[in-house]
Amino acid sequence: MATCEKALSLSVFDIFGVSRSYKQQKTPKKHMDEFFDSWPRKPNFGKTSPRIEYAYGVEDSFTRSKDYIYINYRKIYTHDVVGYFIFLNTVVGVKVEKITTRRLWMLENKFMLRLHDFIHSHLIGSNGTHIQSLINLEEICDGCEKCSNIAQKCLEYGPLRFSTLQTMTYSKNYKKLHVTDKLFEDIAEYCISKSKNKEECFKELDKTILSTLSCDKLAIWISESRVLPDEETDPKYDHRHMPREVIDIILRKWNVKSIKLIILHYTNEPECRIEWLQYDYFTRVRLNDSYWETKQSDLKFNHVEVSLSYSLDCVRGLGNLPPEADPPAGYENLIPNIRRLFPTDQISMELPHWYFIACNNIEKKMSTILQVVTMKKPQKLSLDIKFFVKSGIVKKLNEETNREELLGIASGYVLQEKRLHCFKKSSPFNRGHGPEVFLDNKWVGRRFQVEDTSNQFNFNLDVYIKKKELEEGFDEELLQEYPYSFVGHFFA
Ligand SMILES: [Zn+2]
Ligand SMILES: [Zn+2]
Ligand SMILES: [Zn+2]
Repeated sequence: MATCEKALSLSVFDIFGVSRSYKQQKTPKKHMDEFFDSWPRKPNFGKTSPRIEYAYGVEDSFTRSKDYIYINYRKIYTHDVVGYFIFLNTVVGVKVEKITTRRLWMLENKFMLRLHDFIHSHLIGSNGTHIQSLINLEEICDGCEKCSNIAQKCLEYGPLRFSTLQTMTYSKNYKKLHVTDKLFEDIAEYCISKSKNKEECFKELDKTILSTLSCDKLAIWISESRVLPDEETDPKYDHRHMPREVIDIILRKWNVKSIKLIILHYTNEPECRIEWLQYDYFTRVRLNDSYWETKQSDLKFNHVEVSLSYSLDCVRGLGNLPPEADPPAGYENLIPNIRRLFPTDQISMELPHWYFIACNNIEKKMSTILQVVTMKKPQKLSLDIKFFVKSGIVKKLNEETNREELLGIASGYVLQEKRLHCFKKSSPFNRGHGPEVFLDNKWVGRRFQVEDTSNQFNFNLDVYIKKKELEEGFDEELLQEYPYSFVGHFFA
């Protein structure tokens, strides 16, 4: 379904790149392999529209010499890309409505810039007649005139570089705008540079964020592994402080109705800015700081969605408590902080389906997650978490008998009738080559609920296992021996 060769109206392009030039990046090396080997793909959201995705090859991150990217999950060699665009454009006559690129900044510089221009000239077209959504292309150009012109035509756009934001003096309602933690810092520093004291600084801020713009949904991309500029030798990868007043004025002036937080382990902006920290003008917030330091906002949002699909540390903090979460990174503050910064009664989270997915002891994982999400006694909250696990997680080896045993459901949860399923793109990256194409895997899930009526807290943990793994991995006898096992509910 996602790869309709015969479709003549390709409209969704997902373009993923990779490549060599990231030797210089200061990302924690121990994370690199598991991270690159397992970059998750986003699900197809076009109705009948296939997507062209450039994914990025992976493999041996540091010595990789193959030049290919993925267009809608299909491997395309970089020297074929231009021809492919021309083919789509002239032979197939595509009308491109949505383009998502990812990690194209990792490509070799010359090709990267050509690709940026070709996307504009051959996929978007100079008038941008059909384009509705352009995500992440500024990662390549750091915000250029071509991109900012298209921004004005889209319903969904971003993440915005500061230079693009400055061009947005028109009046427009976006369905969705994307911003980054880096943009917040850039705005704070710009306002400081234009002023002599706090009062002037906030006047400048008021002039910089215009209420002629509005967006229904604001997507905030937050890096969880940025470093200080002078931390060359012993960098501490972490979330960095964000200027609260900048966030608040954006939420207010743009009339934001719901929020999406996208927590990323790795971005092309590995360093945070520190200039603004020299001034005491702005309040500092971080999602993993102690929540009681975070002042309660008086705004209200319909829904806060949290994507942890590209996260390593936040996810780890959700499923592991100290001492296993080492060092303790404060992620148990995530939910209470979200509710102070972006007050809402409805939070949904999606955990990774591709890498760093939980692989041992489902009973313990479920009870740790419950412990973490209820640690600060949430009230009036409906919380949904999509949790993807390996099938091996449901059993453990009894060392005395040397036999496999099936684990049960952690206490506190009640199994719900509802059966769930979803499709997720992924493919194993064998060393040396990325796959030719990323396949859709079917995942089946069951919902486990925790209800606390006195606090009006409802928590649904939707646990998904790959259908294939379920079909391959369990023998009848074992299932019968443990009639109340966790995994048994997937077969019942
Ligand atoms: Zn199809
Ligand atoms: Zn550009
Ligand atoms: Zn702090």
